[in-house]
Amino acid sequence: MRYYDVLVESALPYQILERIGTLLRAEERRLAALCGLKPAQWSALCYLARCNRYSDTPSAVGEYLGTTKGTTSQTLRRLQEKGLLREVADSHDRRVVHWRLSAAGKKMFRNHGPESAIEPFLQGLSKDRDSRNLLQEILRRLQKANDYRSFGICGSCNHFRRLGGGRFQCGLTGESLRAEEASLLCREHQEPVAT
Ligand code: SF4
Repeated sequence: MRYYDVLVESALPYQILERIGTLLRAEERRLAALCGLKPAQWSALCYLARCNRYSDTPSAVGEYLGTTKGTTSQTLRRLQEKGLLREVADSHDRRVVHWRLSAAGKKMFRNHGPESAIEPFLQGLSKDRDSRNLLQEILRRLQKANDYRSFGICGSCNHFRRLGGGRFQCGLTGESLRAEEASLLCREHQEPVAT
């Protein structure tokens, strides 16, 4: 067995995860610099590109990124000044605002988002069900232990309803969902109840 294999085999799960986290952060910093953004701004842009309409408020962004209200607000304003985000008033409650990507923001996400550089390394893993389930389980345990929201993918939510005929609905809000919304992140996501 090679030295490297011995090292990997004896590494504790935390050491492996910590190293992965460090390398991912470095890659994110590199992509952010390519965009002329700070890492926190790049992360907020990427989150807003992948979240649904229930999860694009300043408080949801702050909750996802683990940043304070002041820092989140400053980050969103900077992205707006750069022409990458636009503020949209809620159609039901004018006190609530949503942050959406502008055309320039969408282009930046397409060219320099995680899919551009990080996802290609992980392509094999995302197709392998066992690896995906393992990563999902680690995330689930961390979130549960710290009482964090899951921010999971809509289509995997306990409230997600398939109505037939290609129609979908959110069982929590009662609103219709478009097919493309099934793959977005949601602040209200709830893990399916084990049967
Ligand atoms: S089904 Fe779940 S994840 Fe989807 S919008 Fe409703 S609460 Fe959010």
